[in-house]
Amino acid sequence: MIDCHTHTKYSHDSTQDPREAIESAISKNIEYLAFTDHCDRDCLFSPRHKDKIRQIDLDACMTEIHALKEEYKGKIELAVGIECGYMKDATPLYEKDLAKYNTDIIINSIHLVDFTDCYFKEFFEDKTKEEAYMMYTKAIYNSLFVPYPYDVIAHIGYVSRKAPYEDKMYRYSDLKDVIDEILKTIIQKGKALEINSHAENTGDLTLPNLDIIKRYKELGGELLTFASDAHKIEKQCFMYKEITERLKNCGFKYLFKYLEHKPIAVKV
Ligand SMILES: [Zn+2]
Ligand SMILES: [Zn+2]
Repeated sequence: MIDCHTHTKYSHDSTQDPREAIESAISKNIEYLAFTDHCDRDCLFSPRHKDKIRQIDLDACMTEIHALKEEYKGKIELAVGIECGYMKDATPLYEKDLAKYNTDIIINSIHLVDFTDCYFKEFFEDKTKEEAYMMYTKAIYNSLFVPYPYDVIAHIGYVSRKAPYEDKMYRYSDLKDVIDEILKTIIQKGKALEINSHAENTGDLTLPNLDIIKRYKELGGELLTFASDAHKIEKQCFMYKEITERLKNCGFKYLFKYLEHKPIAVKV
């Protein structure tokens, strides 16, 4: 089992001790674990979130995770990562941050749309589902062209996690043209599509959902990562077996882990 996306106490929304996370992963026979704490420079530009979201202490985080990676060599493969929340205005900050540290994996995420995290109900207040999902999807498209290096496109469909609509499913058929452009760009740029199992109440097992994963395959996509997006140890590799079974049924033979930003195939 491999897990390319997890959080620790260095994220504003987790209290997980990294060492405890590693010990837990070893006990579950997880062979590769990436720590990808939130770097939310996007929030600095949001009046709503700027003072409420604690910014990561990257020096402390990188120092501790690098030290643990060394210490646990031979016991578990650890990867040093960061999850960057995209916003156009924040790109120079990420360029500067990412140039400072040695990392294995960088995740490119959309959380903020129109200056508000679409995990919060405020985002949906003045929007129809169509409008909200389209704005979110266009933001993903724009995020693909950032000037800083990244490896993975995170949790496509994140907007549906807390959407207030009765039918909240984030569907390929509703957004075909933009999603096709996103998937083609991911493939053309050699980036990976993340299969995120933090998808409770979104209408499917994963973000993105099965239709989008199948479309990615149809278009020639191969690079996939597994992501529990665990903020506590109970969720590490959540639903791994079920999800890898599904990927096999879609015709995928491999998942990928990242070391020094190189994708390494792992049989599913
Ligand atoms: Zn995220
Ligand atoms: Zn995350």
